[in-house]
Amino acid sequence: MKKMFINGKWVEANSSETRAIINPYNQEPIATVSEGSRGDAKLAIEAAQGAFDHGEWPHWTARDRGKKVHKIAELIERDHEELAEIESLDTGKTVIESREDMDDIASVFRYFAEIADKDGGDVIDSPIPDSTSRVIHEPVGVCGQITPWNYPLLQASWKLAPALAAGNTLVMKPSEMTPLTSIKVFELMEESGIPVGVVNLVLGPGYSVGDELSVNDNVDLISFTGGIETGKRIMQAASSNVKNLALELGGKNPNIIFADSDFETAVDQAMNAVFFHAGQICSAGTRLIVEENIHDEFVNALVDRVRNIKLGNAFEESTQMGPLISKEHLAKVISYVENGKNEGATIAVGGQKPDDSQLQDGFFYLPTVLTDCTTDMSVVQNEGFGPVITVEKFSTEEESVRLANDSIYGLAGGVFTNDIAKAERCVAKMRMGTVWINDVNLYFPQAPWGGYKQSGIGRELGKKGLEEYQETKHVYRNLHPSPVSWF
Ligand code: NAD
Repeated sequence: MKKMFINGKWVEANSSETRAIINPYNQEPIATVSEGSRGDAKLAIEAAQGAFDHGEWPHWTARDRGKKVHKIAELIERDHEELAEIESLDTGKTVIESREDMDDIASVFRYFAEIADKDGGDVIDSPIPDSTSRVIHEPVGVCGQITPWNYPLLQASWKLAPALAAGNTLVMKPSEMTPLTSIKVFELMEESGIPVGVVNLVLGPGYSVGDELSVNDNVDLISFTGGIETGKRIMQAASSNVKNLALELGGKNPNIIFADSDFETAVDQAMNAVFFHAGQICSAGTRLIVEENIHDEFVNALVDRVRNIKLGNAFEESTQMGPLISKEHLAKVISYVENGKNEGATIAVGGQKPDDSQLQDGFFYLPTVLTDCTTDMSVVQNEGFGPVITVEKFSTEEESVRLANDSIYGLAGGVFTNDIAKAERCVAKMRMGTVWINDVNLYFPQAPWGGYKQSGIGRELGKKGLEEYQETKHVYRNLHPSPVSWF
């Protein structure tokens, strides 16, 4: 039985309600957690507000706060294997992927501890005689943080680490489906000695707990990672008190493959782009845009390899792909592919649940390649969030970029070619927050992450990821005050 962390205490929901958390591999319950509601969220916001208004945390030096943030990283490294195993039980993703997530998470905490410490503000060359002018950064205040189920702790770390390093207090609400690693990290933050009330965790549904964080006038900033429709609702709710807003939403990410790319690498990376974590990645390269003259050869090579992807239990070393997160999500992916078929797409491989009797208790779907796709199809336009890749053809460089940009989303994309001048011409025209040349899905703490167009507002990671959690104050000082006698 796992509880919520409010004002330095582990507490049950006011209503005493609970929720069973299940393993998507076999639907077995793995934990019971408190199911919070709006009232619990209000208590957590009150605690965070108290710690911000009356506590010392916002006034600690960045170096001292950084020591605590480094300590959290150290504790994550200490409990690395346990965290990775919990993440895999909760999400179904292979434990190899979860271990890599945990490495990334520790380095995110370390990165923000370092850069916040180096952020001494700026001195401005004041144009006014006998004056000084400087710009300093201060914390925003109480932050509401809402995370999704696909990368539960990774997404949480991108919010927790900069918020803390910058001196904010916060209330986090993880996805109701995958709260377990977030709970564990709140235990580690308690162990690190972060002052009472600075970090608060409320579990429960989006429509109540998440909405309270978005609408409550005592929350100064809301940072959300999740789907586009939820993002729009949060944006409206956040207008109640003109909250600072950061939205990391979905993607429908293109990979342009030119005929002059390294063929084997491009096929290999086309698979890496979409089949990690069964395609449940915001930056999954779900749209393959292949030059006409290699299209057939490329699809054949891809299909041959996709056929051999091994589905199974996250904890078996041979497993390459786990299940989808839930029954409802599996149903969505099934109908997404059916729509594609009805619109004229051809299933080159996959397109159904696996027959394997061992996999019938889990929410598995076969890795799928859809060919004969065109940009007007819903499978090409809508985020499916499953192990499904669509293939389109192009004949000119200009057409490749036009197809890549034909989307309401603008999160990430890739270009594969050995002609770097051509790659750079494409990059300059691709309307996305991240573009990879001859690679896919790479991110690291130093580089900003976020979307153009309807993929979001703001950036996480990098220097900008810290700035999201900072207010900017200009301090001007008159060195020789005397009356100006204007009136
Ligand atoms: P979701 O929008 O359904 O839920 C995300 C979170 O929002 C959950 O914690 C949920 O409880 C909460 N929520 C739901 N309704 C709410 C409301 N009315 N008010 C406040 N909170 C509410 O998304 P999901 O299905 O958990 O995640 C998948 C989506 O996340 C995909 O679209 C994916 O692309 C996106 N995503 C984006 C990034 C990125 O960096 N851009 C990263 C990961 C996931």
